[in-house]
Amino acid sequence: MPELPEVEVILRGLKPHLLNQKIIKTGSSNKKLRYPLETELINTNIVNKTVTSITRRAKYILITFDSKVSLVIHLGMTGNLGFFPQITPKSKHDHFWCKLDNTQELRYNDVRRFGSIRFTPTANIETIETTLLKDLGPEPLGHDFNGNLLKKKSKSKKLAVKNFIMDNRIVVGVGNIYANESLFLAGIKPNRPVNKINKAEWQRLASTIKDVLNHAIECGGSTINDFVNASQQSGYFQMNFKVYGKENSLCSNCDSPIKQIKIGGRASFYCSICQS
Ligand SMILES: [Zn+2]
Repeated sequence: MPELPEVEVILRGLKPHLLNQKIIKTGSSNKKLRYPLETELINTNIVNKTVTSITRRAKYILITFDSKVSLVIHLGMTGNLGFFPQITPKSKHDHFWCKLDNTQELRYNDVRRFGSIRFTPTANIETIETTLLKDLGPEPLGHDFNGNLLKKKSKSKKLAVKNFIMDNRIVVGVGNIYANESLFLAGIKPNRPVNKINKAEWQRLASTIKDVLNHAIECGGSTINDFVNASQQSGYFQMNFKVYGKENSLCSNCDSPIKQIKIGGRASFYCSICQS
């Protein structure tokens, strides 16, 4: 599943190809994604229109046109957006495409079809925000996200810290991989109840979450299940994993074997010496 760094990498890859470009034609496989594609509506509103901005909120990519409409794209489990020469044959799982006013084509590929492409007038993006993006916490890379916020939001709660930081209402975009890695670097065991974490630890955790996500973005994301960026290049942050997927490997810090437990049904990896 693409997590926040992979979505950010895709977004950064799209920008130079797509910003200020005109769409001349759209098409689709007519297969249902998470929601049916409003092909006619999309076609009428974006053909011969120019892309004016490409932004991200949580794991949603928002592409806005000079016709004051936006596409709100979620990649689901296996979605991806990439650029291809128009003459390249489509792949089996390409479900939506936009021909640009040059030789390139933006294609949405999604093997499992849990992703979505929603259409909305840009003025209604607030409405989308209240439905799709409602109750979302702050962006982890923004100034609003810090140790004080985590401490405040954890008040009188007892859940495991890993579940807490993976809750989108607390902070968006900290998925399973990056939660495991951040907790290792912060020296906090993933199943520690949040009411047992002190202020200094919250500050350390907020800053390791930022560091891990930024480092992953710099590495082009993590390539698990064939993730590639908009130019079909793989990311390599998985080479830097300290604990994720490393059960029984030796800890890079103290040489004890990495342990695996389930927390909230998700695989959780930690070092019992370095994390407490
Ligand atoms: Zn260790």
